[in-house]
Amino acid sequence: MQAEILESVPRLDAIEVGLEDAVGSVLAEDVVAPEDLPGFENAAMDGFAVVASDVDRPSIELDVIDDVAAGSVSSATVTAGTAARIMTGAPIPPGANAVVPVEVTEVISDGRVRILEPATVGDHVRPVGGSVRAGSLVFESGLRLRPPHVSVLASMGASPVVRRRPVVAMMSTGDELVPPSTRTLEPGAIRDSNRTLLRGLLTDLGLEVRDYGIVGDSPGSFEAALDDATKGADVVVTSGGVSMGAYDVVKLTLRDRGSVDFLKIAMQPGKPLGFGTVDGIPFFGLPGNPVSVFVSFEQLMRPALLAMMGADRLFRDRVPGSLGDGINTNPEKDVFVRVTTGRDSDGRWHARSSGGQSSNVLSALAFADALAVVPVGVGRVEPGGTVELEMIHWPEARSREEALGDR
Ligand code: AMP
Ligand code: MG
Repeated sequence: MQAEILESVPRLDAIEVGLEDAVGSVLAEDVVAPEDLPGFENAAMDGFAVVASDVDRPSIELDVIDDVAAGSVSSATVTAGTAARIMTGAPIPPGANAVVPVEVTEVISDGRVRILEPATVGDHVRPVGGSVRAGSLVFESGLRLRPPHVSVLASMGASPVVRRRPVVAMMSTGDELVPPSTRTLEPGAIRDSNRTLLRGLLTDLGLEVRDYGIVGDSPGSFEAALDDATKGADVVVTSGGVSMGAYDVVKLTLRDRGSVDFLKIAMQPGKPLGFGTVDGIPFFGLPGNPVSVFVSFEQLMRPALLAMMGADRLFRDRVPGSLGDGINTNPEKDVFVRVTTGRDSDGRWHARSSGGQSSNVLSALAFADALAVVPVGVGRVEPGGTVELEMIHWPEARSREEALGDR
């Protein structure tokens, strides 16, 4: 199903964005360096610019003929017997071909310096184009920009052409749902946690969210919200109402509108799914159980959103690790076990169930930092057996106390 979804979702338009909006967007065009970086030869250290052949043995004394700060250009030419004091990033003055760090020099008097060690051509000099060559391919189309990428673009004065990020409309179905702020629950009512989850997952991806709230189980209110949602969004996502229940509003309403399929995916959690288009907009009808929402989002919707953004990498990486407890799973399904992870002293990953594995046990999802994948065809993992761990977040590990203890 992953493949069908990826084939059917559109790539959004390319737009030019300012650097302040670029992090999290995906390049729609290759970035070719318009100029060399650095654009001029400059000092990599604070020190003295010298002629290397002139400083071919320890303890050479030189006349200091200029003082070059970053941002200024020296008009003096460095020749045998002379040096220019220079700061990191300042242009190398004419004649000089090496920089001697201030740490290996001694001031003799104002205007006179002793260079303690011999220098070699190019020492502590950043060459033109040493970071990026003019005309070279810097980043390829399909790259999702992180802060260091964007700062490279900043250093080149470039405005990236990226794909628009999808605006996602979401709503919760279910007559049992009440807002999370509800203090006292009526019998049978539960707080809507799915929209909070989805909002977080979507904003983590850098996407704009339109929240249509709780729409209950009545076709009228669901359809009204859906009509609105498809007008202002690139994707619509709902939770609940796609299963076999008598009041499954999403299924009952959209089954006959033709363009949404209601599927039983061979995965656990996350078996029921509605997927298709509504008024031409990609539509994801996720299950109702919160853990199923998460797993369906991760496995099916997140890659699709990244594809719409134009990303070439869509799936989270997996690492092999041992599953401490061992587990029996349904061999007809890809089972995603919520686990906490750690590493042995030899660096090998290990994992342990993070709690109840029913699809309503949200707390075990909250404690998990990976999904252990037990694929179709495998019905049992022995204690200590190897599984693939799909990391769902990369937690900070060392505490303040440990950092201070290391001093
Ligand atoms: P459904 O597929 O609509 O029958 O939902 C399956 C289960 O998920 C039911 O127990 C629902 O009460 C629960 N559920 C549905 N939507 C939400 C939600 N937004 N927040 C928390 N639980 C939900
Ligand atoms: Mg329901």
